Amino acid sequence: MPHRAPCHRTHNRAFTDPENASPQAIRAALKICSWCPIRAQCAQEALQAGTMIIGTVTPRPASGVIAAGVQCKGNKATAQRLAAIAGVPTPEYPGYAYSRPDIMGKPCLSCGKPLFKWTRNPADVPEGYVMHRGRQYCVNCRKAYNAALKAEGPAIPRGIRKRIDRKRHHAITAAARAATRERRRRAEVGEQRLEDEAA
Ligand code: SF4
Ligand SMILES: [Zn+2]
Repeated sequence: MPHRAPCHRTHNRAFTDPENASPQAIRAALKICSWCPIRAQCAQEALQAGTMIIGTVTPRPASGVIAAGVQCKGNKATAQRLAAIAGVPTPEYPGYAYSRPDIMGKPCLSCGKPLFKWTRNPADVPEGYVMHRGRQYCVNCRKAYNAALKAEGPAIPRGIRKRIDRKRHHAITAAARAATRERRRRAEVGEQRLEDEAA
């Protein structure tokens, strides 16, 4: 957020922590942005305000803030909305899955058939097309895809990126899950004993 911006003259915390703000606070923040004189500049800055460490620090769209009237989530939709407000093309973010060029219609590098984006439902794929698997290979050309993957060398570890996964793997969560399992096991053992005694 640029200095001397209207958001700097409010105590509305939705700007810096929208996830924990009330809907009213979010609405109020978005309204402030709607008349902000430096909104386009703010959007431009927010396009690069997030960071992610992939080897080096890499720019990302902002995440976990409200900027330029957008509740930023660091994803593609955020980048697209910010870019539209800034009046610039949506930037490419290196290493970001979504920044890959659109694969639709390109030929599979192995079988040459035109690709259709990956989908959960194979019935979505039109006739004559093949479903994309990755790296411009179709799902049928698994062998060639694996070879391409191998040729690229080992993947760069990026850590556990999804919040839900971070939570699942967190030590406290793991301990709580173990305790629940143990409680259930004891309850079952207890029930079994009661049944045995009754028999
Ligand atoms: S557009 Fe919104 S977030 Fe950006 S400077 Fe203006 S008030 Fe602050
Ligand atoms: Zn193929």
